[in-house]
Amino acid sequence: MGDLFGGIFGGGGRRGGARAPQRGADLETSVRISFEDAARGVTVPVRITRDAPCAACGGSGDRSGWAHPCPTCGGTGAVSESQGMFSFARACPTCGGSGRQIQDPCPVCHGAGIEHKTETVKVKIPGGIRDGARIRVRGRGGAVAGGQTGDLYVVVSVERHPVFGRTDSDLTVDVPLSFSEAVLGTKVSVPTLEEPVTVKIPAGTESGKVFRVRGRGIPRPKGGRGDLLATVRVHVPKKISKEERALIEKLAELDGEAAAQRARAQA
Ligand SMILES: [Zn+2]
Ligand SMILES: [Zn+2]
Repeated sequence: MGDLFGGIFGGGGRRGGARAPQRGADLETSVRISFEDAARGVTVPVRITRDAPCAACGGSGDRSGWAHPCPTCGGTGAVSESQGMFSFARACPTCGGSGRQIQDPCPVCHGAGIEHKTETVKVKIPGGIRDGARIRVRGRGGAVAGGQTGDLYVVVSVERHPVFGRTDSDLTVDVPLSFSEAVLGTKVSVPTLEEPVTVKIPAGTESGKVFRVRGRGIPRPKGGRGDLLATVRVHVPKKISKEERALIEKLAELDGEAAAQRARAQA
């Protein structure tokens, strides 16, 4: 029904678009932050250019800082109009829908209540934020005369880290071990986002085994922290010394004897 009447009578009030918009546009911008800043949280300055409420008149458009309500519509921005048995809301012809009457126009914005400007907004990014997350900053979007100011959305992109990776709230890191360390066991110092932790590697640890250090990961959105996941990577050397070669050949010999023994035992 609404569309039908709108079509017949050419639309009125909000539908016809004669009224000023009631809400300003949302803006979107992006920031790039380091892996560590994403983990810990950071406040970043963001430069934006927007239609802001005029600072001189507080967005009122009037030098006094306060705009009187329009006497025709009483500040609503709309007037009622009768056509036969129907009554329609139309944009107020006196104020053009803003609902305001400027008596002494602001010298800075000439009564518009809006100024186009570039400003720096400090955006607080919570610790543990993910790559691609969007942060909403209320009231820092586009302003409109007599309406609500839109919001600013900041898309956060997180840089990669040369050492650490991330799976949700868990921090991941590779722990390189030599063959002898993996076979005999050792204690290794593993980096975290704070001071390193010592991880005990038991004898006979396979490459790819993951050691979990609780609570040393990334802050979770609802409190607490994820874990540190340290993955063992057993390093096979490309170059070895003469002495190492002799020892490894001896080891190969022993391996061969052990295999032969097992074969005899099974026979
Ligand atoms: Zn009016
Ligand atoms: Zn002004």
